[in-house]
Amino acid sequence: MLNIVIFGAPGSGKGTQSEKLIEKYNLAHISTGDVLRAEMKNGTELGKLAEGYISQGQLVPDDVVIGMLANVLDSKNDVAGVIFDGFPRTIPQGEALEAMLKKRGQDVSIVVSLEVEESELIERLIKRGQQSGRSDDNLETIKSRLDVYKNQTSPLKEHYKTTGKLMTIKGQGDIEDIFGLIVEAVDKVK
Ligand code: ADP
Repeated sequence: MLNIVIFGAPGSGKGTQSEKLIEKYNLAHISTGDVLRAEMKNGTELGKLAEGYISQGQLVPDDVVIGMLANVLDSKNDVAGVIFDGFPRTIPQGEALEAMLKKRGQDVSIVVSLEVEESELIERLIKRGQQSGRSDDNLETIKSRLDVYKNQTSPLKEHYKTTGKLMTIKGQGDIEDIFGLIVEAVDKVK
C-alpha cells in the first residue's frame, strides 16, 4: 500500500498535486477539509461544530477530526493506497494516523511537504477566495490559518524528518515541474 501524506501550508498546492497523484497511482483521496465542508453543506452536527472553527481559521479539535478520519479510512477498501490531504495537522493527529495504519498492517510511505513563501501563499488564497467564494479565504482568516500552520502543524515536519519520511519540495513554479519532482520521490518508495 502506498500511503502518501501531502503536507504544506494553506495554499501550498496540496489539493492540486493530490488530484494528479490520485490519477497516476490510482489512490483514494482523503481531504479532511473537503469532508468537513461536505458536512457543513449537509448541515450535520459535525458540520455545525466545524463551521465555527473553520470560519475563524482555527483547527477543528483533534478528537473530532481523528474520529472522522478513522470512519472515512474504513470506507476505503480495495485501493492501491491513500493520499492524506490536510491530515495530520497536529502531533496528536500524526500519532493517531500511525496507530490507525499500524492496526491495518500499514505505514506512512512518504510525506511530501510543499514549500511556498508566505507572500505567495497569501496571494494565492486571496485569489482562490475571489474565485471559489470559500468563506475562509479572506485576509483575516488567512492570517490565522498561517499562524496555526506555523505553530501547530509545521512541528510535524521535524517528526517526519527524524523517521526519514520527509521529502521537501519547492511548491513554486510550474505545476507540472512540481508534479515531476513529487513523482520522482514517490517512485523511490513505491
Ligand atoms: P487549507 O489547506 O487551504 O487550509 P483545507 O481544506 O485543508 O484548506 O482546510 C480548511 C479548514 O478545515 C482548516 O483551516 C481547518 O479549520 C479545517 N481542517 C481541515 N483539516 C483539518 C485537520 N486535520 N484538523 C483540524 N482541522 C482541520
